[in-house]
Amino acid sequence: MPECTFHRGVETSVRCVECERPICPRDFVPTPVGYKCPDCARPLPSARRVVKARQLALAALAAVGVGAVGGLLIMMLAYGSWLLSIALGLLTGEAARRASGGHRQGAVVAVAAAGAAIGIALSGAGLLSALIGAAAAATSVSSGRW
Ligand SMILES: [Zn+2]
Ligand SMILES: [Zn+2]
Repeated sequence: MPECTFHRGVETSVRCVECERPICPRDFVPTPVGYKCPDCARPLPSARRVVKARQLALAALAAVGVGAVGGLLIMMLAYGSWLLSIALGLLTGEAARRASGGHRQGAVVAVAAAGAAIGIALSGAGLLSALIGAAAAATSVSSGRW
């Protein structure tokens, strides 16, 4: 029988499903795919779950862009309609979330809200519309209705 990787002199028939090193009952960690050694069982900081600065920048760009263009349309079509500001905010939040790679983290929410506010304010739709849009954008990112 092979000797445990972590304990000299301890024989074991269990191997880590990932690195295939022999591990004894003192070390192995049950996982959905089988027993793993403590090294492989340790959760890695997932790149997918942690939002990167570049993704945040993309989210901000998307939010400002959609907010500004949408705000202009609202100004031309409905002269700063509140209802359309909410719709625009939701759209802006969704654009920011997609641009960030589908994240729903606080940072993306903040960036989406700020981007929507800046974009809508830039379009001249007014401070109230900007605030409404920002709130809707934050809701859109965090609630995940879409
Ligand atoms: Zn292992
Ligand atoms: Zn061991």
